[in-house]
Amino acid sequence: VRNLQKIDRRPPASDEIEISLFGPGYGESVLVHVGGGRWLVVDSCQPRESAQPLALDYLHSMNVDVSVAVKTIVATHWHDDHVRGIATLFEAASQSEFVFSSSIDLAALPAATDTPVASKFSSGIDQLAKVAKLARNSDKGSRKLRPVSAGTRLLTPSGPVREVWALSPSAADVLLGLKQIAASLPSATSGPGVRRVASLQPNDTSVVLGVETDFGSILLGGDLEHRIAGRDRGWHAVMDLEAVPTTPARFFKIPHHGSQGADCPEVWEHRVEDENPVLLLAPFARGSVLLPTDSDLERIRRRSTNAFRTTARVIPLQRRDRTTTRTIREVRQYRSNQFEPGHIQVRVDSRGWRVNGSMQAQRL
Ligand SMILES: [Zn+2]
Repeated sequence: VRNLQKIDRRPPASDEIEISLFGPGYGESVLVHVGGGRWLVVDSCQPRESAQPLALDYLHSMNVDVSVAVKTIVATHWHDDHVRGIATLFEAASQSEFVFSSSIDLAALPAATDTPVASKFSSGIDQLAKVAKLARNSDKGSRKLRPVSAGTRLLTPSGPVREVWALSPSAADVLLGLKQIAASLPSATSGPGVRRVASLQPNDTSVVLGVETDFGSILLGGDLEHRIAGRDRGWHAVMDLEAVPTTPARFFKIPHHGSQGADCPEVWEHRVEDENPVLLLAPFARGSVLLPTDSDLERIRRRSTNAFRTTARVIPLQRRDRTTTRTIREVRQYRSNQFEPGHIQVRVDSRGWRVNGSMQAQRL
């Protein structure tokens, strides 16, 4: 049942901000129009039945020239559901710089055509390796790769957007992440396959972005976790970060698909507006994991009556059973002919904000 206005296919005005969140059920991507026809893309989502990332489909549908309009692409972390198709995006957005968590040593990743990384999250790593290769092969190294961590300032101000900051990962999380990735890659001594790492949690090193604008600030939470040990890690480290703007957010992309483990009470207390902030969330369904849970939804509803999810109808994608996977894929294919992918579009200007959504998007 449609309960939001249809997605507006006219490009945003020059002085209008847009925050679009895509999340068909597996995968997440955020697009921000920062003003003046310039776009920031955070993560990439490409459903199996899509020929290209949803961000490209969407920008093309508005006749946006991706090659010049997309200035920055951010990979918050290397989980498959956040980077699928990101190399395609980087190739199409030929003037963009590529921003990623300092916890990843892109130069150390094996070339995409070399031995595939047989880790649990191999395709995520492969996507980043492809990006690194594109940059290496670019004309005189014109394509920029930019590792960021807590306190890095991104973008130059444009239109209504004043500042964009990376608020994570913390120094402690960067160190851990580098160690974990190194251990997950094939080495000369262990060869491929022997790369079991006990505490491999790429979410802990996820990039959180703070966007200061004339119309309220935006907090993009990535998949950053809260329930990790140490005040110097995760959301606690974001709270303690100095010398960055700390305006409470009017717009908040909720971290890690609404899961309890990413919910930091201090964030709600200090970094999100009290009065009905606009909360955005994309679900995650894979195997037996389905986020948000009913109790997650209840918890989020208590924070605001302006909470939205990209889709209310999610079919968990089974990882192991090939027959089931194929059937689900066929169902999705069939559905994709009828339904737009899960999408929430927030347009903001001096008069206020409005939210549009695809067929299955809804207010919580
Ligand atoms: Zn995720």
